[in-house]
Amino acid sequence: GVPGARGRIEFDDVAFGYGADVDRPALHPLSLDIPPGQKVALVGRTGAGKSTIAKLLARFYDVGTGAIRLDGVDLRELTDADLRREVTMITQEAFLFSGTVAENIALGRPEASRAEVEEAARRLGADEFIRSLPEGYETDLQKRGGRVSSGQRQLISFARAFLADPSVLILDEATASLDLPSERRVQRGLEELLRGRTALVIAHRLSTVLDADRVLVIDEGRVVEDGSPAEL
Ligand code: ATP
Ligand code: MG
Repeated sequence: GVPGARGRIEFDDVAFGYGADVDRPALHPLSLDIPPGQKVALVGRTGAGKSTIAKLLARFYDVGTGAIRLDGVDLRELTDADLRREVTMITQEAFLFSGTVAENIALGRPEASRAEVEEAARRLGADEFIRSLPEGYETDLQKRGGRVSSGQRQLISFARAFLADPSVLILDEATASLDLPSERRVQRGLEELLRGRTALVIAHRLSTVLDADRVLVIDEGRVVEDGSPAEL
């Protein structure tokens, strides 16, 4: 990480349970220090606790015990606006709403100019297919002609996150397999999106794991391995 850069994440003895099942907490006390700019891949079998870690960092839930800090500030002390500015979570569903492509990209920054929207799309590799849609950036994604593939959907959500410019990105990588050209475009888009940001990626692709600075293997709500891809 770069000294003075934003996006340091600390988990300080964080534990969490979803409900009455106190005998099997979703997360056992966990401490982590993720320096600014580090790319962390989370791997582990289904039900291990990967999404739980991601959701706690995005403050979907409050921690049960302990604290999560972003740049030294307890998440509970941030306003919703501060949190949304600094932390973006992209889920597998790559949420698109009924509106134009341009509106969908500008979701996190509605005041963005068209030039900024197009620049974000270009940087992330989405510009070409958007221009090929019947009405380009004005195409309504819910109307006929506005059908986009899952790879294109992911690129739109990447462009949206790029424009929002958070210091921390959380990504639940899609499990659905894409054809090879789409896979490569999504992979390149992801690299561009993650540049200079702290990232927590729930990784389903081997390439993501190999590209990470650090891999956390999660099992039964615990970190069972923590090291570089080469070490694991
Ligand atoms: P997957 O790879 O299938 O997405 P995961 O590693 O993301 O799995 P989590 O979703 O974090 O796993 O789940 C961790 C544990 O918490 C599991 O035992 C799961 O059943 C439980 N759990 C997850 N979400 C909820 C919820 N909303 N309510 C109750 N229990 C939940
Ligand atoms: Mg999950």
